[in-house]
Amino acid sequence: MPEFRQDPITGRCVIIASNRSNRPRHYDAETELVYSLECPFCEGNERMTPPEIYAQREAHSGADTPGWRVRTVPNKYPALEDYGRWSEADPGIYRTSPGVGVHEVIIENPRHIVNIGALDENQFVNILRAYQTRLATLRKDRRWRCLLIYKNQGEAAGATLEHVHSQVIALPFVPKEVSAEITGANRHYRSTGACFYCALSQTESVSGKRLVSSTERFVALCPFAPRFLYETWILPKNHSATFESSSDEDIFALAHALRNVIIKLNGALGNPAFNYFIHSLPPHETAEYQYHWHIEILPQVAKAAGLEWGSGIHLNPVCPEEAARLLRETPA
Ligand SMILES: [Zn+2]
Ligand SMILES: [Zn+2]
Ligand SMILES: [Zn+2]
Repeated sequence: MPEFRQDPITGRCVIIASNRSNRPRHYDAETELVYSLECPFCEGNERMTPPEIYAQREAHSGADTPGWRVRTVPNKYPALEDYGRWSEADPGIYRTSPGVGVHEVIIENPRHIVNIGALDENQFVNILRAYQTRLATLRKDRRWRCLLIYKNQGEAAGATLEHVHSQVIALPFVPKEVSAEITGANRHYRSTGACFYCALSQTESVSGKRLVSSTERFVALCPFAPRFLYETWILPKNHSATFESSSDEDIFALAHALRNVIIKLNGALGNPAFNYFIHSLPPHETAEYQYHWHIEILPQVAKAAGLEWGSGIHLNPVCPEEAARLLRETPA
């Protein structure tokens, strides 16, 4: 029987309809290349991108030359641009304001790897450090009210270049998705005196029903009301509002946990396209005790359709208990 489920933090409603269940399509693993002549993200093609903002490099290698491990550049086709100040718009029914913001690309490997699951744990550490550094730097600019790291892997997830990369965006306001979480976290804290996500991590660790993996510092789980098939969240077990403040030990442990989940998803679903993003307490927000940073991984194995667009209700044919069981059983 189908079931309505509500996300306890945002109130978002989904339908779990396991009766419609069929295994997600598998799609073929891509061929791995070492270098592509036309790829602007390959080592040796540094001139094809705007000048780098940040890179982890071998000693004595110059900016915008080979010798890097992770490289951050401005997005050549930015969604937002860093110009002027953001202001609330004109009166009337239509509102506009300048598309002020920052949009950067973090190139995650010098070689032409197309699936982040092919990278080793050390490279995950390098990537997470790059995320951390960019977020910490952008946080100092008081204009930005929300910072988001996100990844689109695979064409079905919106990637236009296949070479492994993530993106960073800085926004002059807090978007609805993020503010709904902060509001929910504040509400939970007011009524219980505790962080919702800490309670989530404890509850799911005890029950084990939706647990994908658990290590000393991190827990990976399928959320109770998942919008996407095999949706998985990773969160630190110890309370922490901002990802940027993670210690070195946290970064090592997260590299292990994140890689582990991606390899499980790749194994279980046949290298699916997916998006992931990091939700970290936005600058200017004060919910230090209420909010808890996390990563949401959204495999793109089914398309949102009329129901989703028309009602905002996601229909999910795989219940999270079943999804978590399959991922737990898939070796990493
Ligand atoms: Zn490439
Ligand atoms: Zn917490
Ligand atoms: Zn979130």
